[in-house]
Amino acid sequence: TVMEVFKAACRQGSLARDSVAIRSDQQSYSYGQLVSSALKISALLSSNETSSHGSLHGARIGIVAKPSAEFVSGVLGTWFSGGVAVPLALSHPESELLHVMNDSDVSMLLSTEDYRETMQNVAAKSSARFSLIPPVAGVSSETSVHDESQIADIGNSNKIDGEDPALVVYTSGTTGKPKGVVHTHKSIAAQTCTSEIYLSNWSLTYDIHVHGLFNALLAPLYAGATVEFMPKFSVRGIWQRWRECYPVDGSKTADAITVFTGVPTMYTRLIQGYEAMDPELKAASASAARQLRLMMCGSSALPLPVMQQWETITGHRLLERYGMTEFVMSIANPLRGVRKAGTVGKPFPGVQVKIVEDESAGDSVGVGELCVKSPSLFKEYWKLPEVTKDSFTDDGFFKTGDTGKVDEDGYYIILGRSSADIMKVGGYKLSALEIESILLEHPDIAECCVLGLPDKDYGDAVSAIIVPDEEAKKKQAEQSKPVMSLEELCSWAKDKLAPYKLPTRLFIWDSLPRNAMGKVNKKELKKQLVGA
Ligand code: ATP
Ligand code: MG
Repeated sequence: TVMEVFKAACRQGSLARDSVAIRSDQQSYSYGQLVSSALKISALLSSNETSSHGSLHGARIGIVAKPSAEFVSGVLGTWFSGGVAVPLALSHPESELLHVMNDSDVSMLLSTEDYRETMQNVAAKSSARFSLIPPVAGVSSETSVHDESQIADIGNSNKIDGEDPALVVYTSGTTGKPKGVVHTHKSIAAQTCTSEIYLSNWSLTYDIHVHGLFNALLAPLYAGATVEFMPKFSVRGIWQRWRECYPVDGSKTADAITVFTGVPTMYTRLIQGYEAMDPELKAASASAARQLRLMMCGSSALPLPVMQQWETITGHRLLERYGMTEFVMSIANPLRGVRKAGTVGKPFPGVQVKIVEDESAGDSVGVGELCVKSPSLFKEYWKLPEVTKDSFTDDGFFKTGDTGKVDEDGYYIILGRSSADIMKVGGYKLSALEIESILLEHPDIAECCVLGLPDKDYGDAVSAIIVPDEEAKKKQAEQSKPVMSLEELCSWAKDKLAPYKLPTRLFIWDSLPRNAMGKVNKKELKKQLVGA
């Protein structure tokens, strides 16, 4: 179970009692303080729970807090007491929070002082009880640090089995309403340990600082690293933090961040922020970024030009990975060895991937749906037994809904979502992601989205929505004419794309509608554009 994993982590010699687990808001929290605080929450939950079973076993506990020690102790405390953690996003409007709380039958909502009033109201509307996560004491304070007996206490008050649910986490909602994904103690433990194998391969030791929320939280904690939270994503804040860690005199602060992970749009925004700096700041920023040890990217396709620009600026070849809420992370490029651009690397140890071609493969041999079997695989979609059943092959592989192929070196290439990124144009199957990558090389294009709109002759018409960069936008406004025509775009792209891949429809927009994860819901866009 997760408890065993966490106990092992706490006992590891490298995790000196006072070593820093979390840093946020300029405060440090040791592993000991985190455990003490989680045990308190566990006791609080157990004493409050009056469910029919008289125990917390399996009860859903909603947790809403900004990334902080309190958030982490809320999650750990829930697990220690046998409950199922349901993390809720602060960025969600009340209606969305209520949807998730009602959908997952949250019986208790945990939050922090700063959101007390709002969350008390939300809890009242959903008939969940409300409780405050007590503030976790920081390292400088005099509070107790855990001792061996405390570690032994973890998880003792419940009889949790590896197959028991531990977490309901909702998908990004890129293709529809977010689905609750149920992870068990075993699947989380497996993911944590596999990533830890990766982390130790990557020689992360306990002086490492990793920025991130969920994906980047448990495994680094298990590896004994320090996780630094930023209250929210801020381009200036990140560049500034890196410059603080690595001043221009070539030194390095004691709490310097060494590993960074983000989604592709974060890197796009960081590049835009960098471009807007004056030369001196640029030099300081780039030199600071160069000194981090590792930068990773995942959660949606990393366009090639973004990867290349990032490498030019920071010297870092982003380590791209492939993951889903349903199995967290299962294919990744290596730390040492070749990180192949345009691929997501190879399966983790213990992960099996197969490609299931559909009958109409025709000219696209070797291309098909990625199906994954992994110890980190989720148990089921919450309250969606039919969807769960349809998501697995007869031999127990999870059908990802993503189309991909393997290259000659065994590296996986994601061509996109079968339902949204794969277009069928006159008998050819095209990947929207490939075309997007090419269009982004155009000097005037900042962002783009390619999708197939129905075409009576060809099946799908390759349609491009582009967002001009700031300069092109200004020029467009001054001359009051579009920054480019379809003909101009195609004549620029014709050396880079086969004729049948060239867009036949062009839309110029001010921005793309992206969800919290930076993803575009193409199904929704398609509907909108067809209706227009
Ligand atoms: P929903 O399932 O609610 O529609 P979602 O699929 O976007 O939302 P996530 O679980 O966050 O929710 O995202 C997983 C998906 O993200 C994968 O199925 C895949 O399409 C995409 N993805 C993740 N990593 C990569 C990558 N490195 N390259 C390309 N696509 C990726
Ligand atoms: Mg999905």
